[in-house]
Amino acid sequence: MKIDGAPWVCSECGGRQETAGACAACGEDPLVDAREAEMRELLREMDLRRKDRFERRTLWIAIPFGIVLPVLVLASLPVIFDLVPAPPLLTVVGSMIGVTLVVWIGLRKLFKPKVRFAWLGDSHEEFGHEELE
Ligand SMILES: [Zn+2]
Repeated sequence: MKIDGAPWVCSECGGRQETAGACAACGEDPLVDAREAEMRELLREMDLRRKDRFERRTLWIAIPFGIVLPVLVLASLPVIFDLVPAPPLLTVVGSMIGVTLVVWIGLRKLFKPKVRFAWLGDSHEEFGHEELE
């Protein structure tokens, strides 16, 4: 596969440069040769792991909101229990799950995980079938 842009990639900051050696931007050494399929796969994996960490972190931020907000609202407006045609426990647990999901989705819309190697695309390549350039 032919890549667009400089072949040497910094796994730390995502910087790219024409020559091997230390990263010109952050000093990370050694750089990764993006002309190798295995290295591109490694960089994609790093972005995926970063995305997973972001999802977990935003979920852990959403959970306290999902617990506290329904408790505050239901405690201050107990009339809700009369209006909702479900057992009180189901109303509490359901609203906790609902608020957690809404906050989590909101956080994921507001903030995006850092993607350093977006130029690689999402498609995973098969190893060992590289065309000679
Ligand atoms: Zn760097």
